[in-house]
Amino acid sequence: MKLPDSITEVMSYLSKLPGVGEKSALRYTLFLTRLENEMIKEFSNSISSLAEIKKCESCGFFCEEYKCSICLDENRGEFKTICVVEGISDLMAIEKSGHYRGRYHVLGGVLNPLLGIGPQELHMEKLFQRISSEKIQDLVLAINPSVEGDATCSYIRDQISPDVKAERIGFGMPMGGSLEYLDSLTISKALENRTSF
Ligand SMILES: [Zn+2]
Repeated sequence: MKLPDSITEVMSYLSKLPGVGEKSALRYTLFLTRLENEMIKEFSNSISSLAEIKKCESCGFFCEEYKCSICLDENRGEFKTICVVEGISDLMAIEKSGHYRGRYHVLGGVLNPLLGIGPQELHMEKLFQRISSEKIQDLVLAINPSVEGDATCSYIRDQISPDVKAERIGFGMPMGGSLEYLDSLTISKALENRTSF
């Protein structure tokens, strides 16, 4: 059965999305072919606009201009606290739990020498700059538990002044798990159960 290229192309993109197999990709594509022309155009325009998305120059979260809504929010309260996360999805999971009132810093991954990911490949230097320029007193390390995550936390601890309190959040999850899949209650508990190291 030979399908038009436009259909197989959309299918192949959709099947690259997390959790979408070939069957679902076909189902979504067939659904899209039934949409009104106007809606298809709006949908494809909204996807194209993702190419222009900006990241906050301070923390790395999505933003409209230079700084994100979290960094610009004067009412967050805990100005001297930064929560360090691997990725934006972790930031969003913690934010959704509603129990954290400081700022964030998105590293963009964890140290992984085998894959050639060193401090230069992550937003590590910017973190250290922020700790001194924003006079940060507390670091909440919300790095997912893994060998690489542990090494990343130790690296950060070694690089910062002993005057800065660094705590790793407690986890109710196995090694290799990820924050983004935890429910808000578990995240709140993990934020409460922090341990210094
Ligand atoms: Zn920001």
